[in-house]
Amino acid sequence: MADKSSSGELAFQDVRMRGFRDRAEVDDFVALLKSRLQPQPAEDVGLHEAAGRVLATDVLAPCDVPGFDRAAMDGYALRGEETFGAGAYNPLELEVVGVSLPAKPFPIPVQAGQAVRIMTGAPLPAGTDAVLPAESAEENEGKLRLMDPVSPGRHVGRQGEDIKKGTLVFQAERMLRPQDVGVLASLGVSPVRVVRRPVVSIIVTGDELLPGGAKPEGFRIVDSNSVMLEALVRRDDGLPKVHPIVPDRRDAVRDAMLEAESDVLLISGGSSVGQEDHAPRVLAEIGELCIHGVALRPASPAGVGFLGPADRARPVFLMPGNPVSCLCAYDLFAGPAIRRLGGRSIDMPYRSASLPLASKLVSAVGRMDYVRVRVSDGHVEPLATSGASNLSSTTRADGFLLVPRDSEGQAPGEIVRVYFYDNE
Ligand code: AMP
Ligand code: MG
Repeated sequence: MADKSSSGELAFQDVRMRGFRDRAEVDDFVALLKSRLQPQPAEDVGLHEAAGRVLATDVLAPCDVPGFDRAAMDGYALRGEETFGAGAYNPLELEVVGVSLPAKPFPIPVQAGQAVRIMTGAPLPAGTDAVLPAESAEENEGKLRLMDPVSPGRHVGRQGEDIKKGTLVFQAERMLRPQDVGVLASLGVSPVRVVRRPVVSIIVTGDELLPGGAKPEGFRIVDSNSVMLEALVRRDDGLPKVHPIVPDRRDAVRDAMLEAESDVLLISGGSSVGQEDHAPRVLAEIGELCIHGVALRPASPAGVGFLGPADRARPVFLMPGNPVSCLCAYDLFAGPAIRRLGGRSIDMPYRSASLPLASKLVSAVGRMDYVRVRVSDGHVEPLATSGASNLSSTTRADGFLLVPRDSEGQAPGEIVRVYFYDNE
């Protein structure tokens, strides 16, 4: 952890080759994110791009929907009270004086003893108050024989019946569903004010790395983190921007951080205590390093700080290079931050369930554990893993669970909360 000296200057503890002395608690990390990060400013998008976006403002109905009284069935518009008493043995007769079609209303008021043929969605003519369904009448040479009565208001969609002008239709921070954008269309609301999606720079560091898409060769490995982080950022509705791989040189790490133009920076690798781990030092020099080292396995080298002027400081996440740790640091810290900036929920985006443990789970007191698990027959089996470098442990897993800091482990049969990587 970085600390502040008495002069208020950031006194950076160089942990390289010494290890972490103090580790931040996971809860403190999350609390810091909540206090420092707010949803981004709004932008306008067209209706066609609005589904899935988060509303930035309340939406009040600017008009009634529908904007006029209309037929809810095909039939005849008439005065309901004139039909009282109509029946199979007492057919009544009205004169059909015209037709009302959608967007082509019958133009003059209807008088007593008259009816207008009308189609669903067509404006109800002045002077009428009900629609008699077509099957309840017979029309012959301009005469309508009614076999059923219809009460005033029947089969009429009233003006404002769907949405009344001035009502609160959606509150800010709602994630727009497909039917929501349909409603916005019906209200004539376009463009739509939504929260701007955060642009997320993904910077991976490491002399050993080859870009995603290359074949591993010799002592060089292929960068899996940027490929994985890009997909995670997309899932959380951020706009990923993947930078070229940065070598393990302090100036290169520094330049990459300074040049990244984005709302959030994820810097993977070089965040631990090795001699080539420059990211925390560089961040402390050019910005503010708030947390470095977390009581969390397997992401203990994770950290966070801020870069840029105080009013527009961008969060910078130190992501461990080990791919499992990187995923864990994303799930617990970077993901919630990106979602919060985008106006979304900070909660885990994973489906979860409370299920019994199939076997004993051992954990050390003093840190939270992110444990990959399989679920079969409704029981949770922790996967025996050999640490944070084997990413395939997360592909074999159905999900993960979090063992709280103060737990020594859990016994078979105890109920645990599992987060599933898949939503189905
Ligand atoms: P570091 O955090 O840079 O010390 O890296 C820790 C371990 O993760 C090392 O074995 C690295 O080779 C590996 N590693 C670092 N970055 C990546 C990456 N982008 N993709 C896959 N493995 C990585
Ligand atoms: Mg490295």
